[in-house]
Amino acid sequence: MKILIVEDEPKTGDYLRQGLSEAGFVVDLAQDGADGLHLALLGEYDLIILDVMLPGLDGWQVLQSLRHRGLQMPVLFLTARDQVEDRVKGLELGADDYLVKPFSFAELLARVRTILRRGRGGGLDSNVLRVADLELDLLRRRVTRGGKRIDLTAKEFGLLELLMRRHGEVLPRSLIASQVWDMNFDSDTNVIEVAIRRLRVKIDEEHEVKLIHTVRGMGYVLEAPEAR
Ligand code: CA
Repeated sequence: MKILIVEDEPKTGDYLRQGLSEAGFVVDLAQDGADGLHLALLGEYDLIILDVMLPGLDGWQVLQSLRHRGLQMPVLFLTARDQVEDRVKGLELGADDYLVKPFSFAELLARVRTILRRGRGGGLDSNVLRVADLELDLLRRRVTRGGKRIDLTAKEFGLLELLMRRHGEVLPRSLIASQVWDMNFDSDTNVIEVAIRRLRVKIDEEHEVKLIHTVRGMGYVLEAPEAR
């Protein structure tokens, strides 16, 4: 499997290249949009990891040019924290997924594997996460359970997205704090507990089947009961 990374920050680029090579991928690195586009147009890559903020051509322009020319290889783009509009824009332009900086390498690798497993032409539907009757639409920023619309704040949406992407996995509070709040977990804060409680009311209260569970002393997990 061949991956192209387009990233202008040398440290991030080298780190990604090294990590992905060690994970068994063949990796090329371009440091600006024009080079990235040139390489991508060769059409040899199974996946492109595309930074949004690039000198010259930015990530959007690269993505647009590729899709415009009919190249449908999956694109995972890297975006700045809290740029919700950016994420929506990227998905609308035909990116397959996005990752918010800073991210852990494990998270990136998990996304890369998911995208490659899903294969080409995932289409719009790949922007919808589903667990049981709960659906989260990344593009429309919409959540439904049993077809009924649920209104969430931006943080609640981010929290639910994380829980759904990694459903079945117990997520420690420290991980949730760093991924959703960009903060290091501090034992005297109950921000996460409060947010989980609110999310639970919205997601689970009206339903007999509960999806969000507390694992005492460990963290939280989102899963459908039959998965146990
Ligand atoms: Ca950049």
